[in-house]
Amino acid sequence: MSSTVSVPVFDKKKHVLLIPDLFPIHMELLANVIRASGYRVEVLRTHGADVMEAGLKYIHNDMCYPAICSLGQQLHAITSGTHDPADVAFVQFQTGGGCRASNYSMVLRKALNKLGLEIPIVTLGFSTLSRNSGFSLTPAMCIRALVAVTYGDLLLLLGNQVRPYETNPGQTQSLLRHWEETLGRELSAARAGLGQVKRNLKNIARSFAEIPVKAAKKVKVGIVGEVYVKYSPFANNQLEEFLQNQDCEYMLPGVLGFLRYCLSSPAVDWELYGGSRFSREVSVFLGRVIGRFEAALSRALAGYPQFHTPPSFRQMREKGERILSKGVKMGEGWYLPAEMVELIESGYDRIICAQPFGCLPNHIVGRGTLKRFRELYPQAHILPLDYDASLSRVNQENRIKLLLTDAREKMTQTDPTPVPAPTSAAPGLASSF
Ligand code: SF4
Repeated sequence: MSSTVSVPVFDKKKHVLLIPDLFPIHMELLANVIRASGYRVEVLRTHGADVMEAGLKYIHNDMCYPAICSLGQQLHAITSGTHDPADVAFVQFQTGGGCRASNYSMVLRKALNKLGLEIPIVTLGFSTLSRNSGFSLTPAMCIRALVAVTYGDLLLLLGNQVRPYETNPGQTQSLLRHWEETLGRELSAARAGLGQVKRNLKNIARSFAEIPVKAAKKVKVGIVGEVYVKYSPFANNQLEEFLQNQDCEYMLPGVLGFLRYCLSSPAVDWELYGGSRFSREVSVFLGRVIGRFEAALSRALAGYPQFHTPPSFRQMREKGERILSKGVKMGEGWYLPAEMVELIESGYDRIICAQPFGCLPNHIVGRGTLKRFRELYPQAHILPLDYDASLSRVNQENRIKLLLTDAREKMTQTDPTPVPAPTSAAPGLASSF
């Protein structure tokens, strides 16, 4: 077994970029942004025991669960015979912080060395784009990527709020698919200006508001946690699909806020510890750019008071500081409790905190803040749920069922109208979620 780290170069004409499935709706939209620049891209949607096995076989099980899942999808693609290793390149996302997520590319390279394969890895991160990657991330691509994330956030937000109450089962899911295809085509042609983006956001909000809904009393659940496990259906054992089957309303916060949290770190460092003023200026500038997209999303929802509108980043920071200092930035840092505060104050007072087993930073900012939450929000119930390749899905689901049963009993005590218990699988379930 060689330990030599070779760096083959990605060739746009020769290689298909394989991207792990991170976010529910956003990934395909982001893939279209990359396609618009002439690259060939495939988002890996593979799930199941074989994929997990591929991760466990080539990656040490001391590595984080998100590494085993996301790298496992890529390793499975080349070891299962579905993709020719000579024709593919891998995309990895790198946080650039002190966490293990900053080493995923090297872990993948080591696994490829074990397999005797030389496959290019394009590393996309907040602080680095791997040199010699052969991939160029232009400012226009970054702006289009932000557009894609904004669309994804709005679709996620509205789909979550309308689906549980739709009169015609499956209508919300069909509308989601329609928008994914329409926006995907537009993003891959790179032809929409900012005026069109704003019109699209308004049209999305209007189309969801037009779906007929019926009044119903449902348990409202918020999902927070480590960014990969909370979003990826593969990593969280189809958590969203499970919650849809349990006939509750759930809220999964958007990705824009998390991006802004990550990019705000240099400005926080400068404020608390000194350091590079240039990094601080870049951080503030990028935060303002994302803030424009957040504002456009909020404006699109302005005429629809029935929909929950995400708060501004400044408001999120204020909410976070009730629990933790903004200097806590490892893992999901102060942003995770900020999301919990926001969800509880918006009525989602049953919270699932999805965390990789052994993820130290997120256990500190998740489970570690429960005492403070009990003091500030005694009505809220926060369920920290660990995810790992060896942990039982049945056990996770039973714990969620207990959370929901308790919530239904409490609701019936305050309002004697019975809260419907789950009867059958919800229609049109999350194939794209
Ligand atoms: S946040 Fe947790 S799961 Fe993610 S890289 Fe760090 S330790 Fe691993």
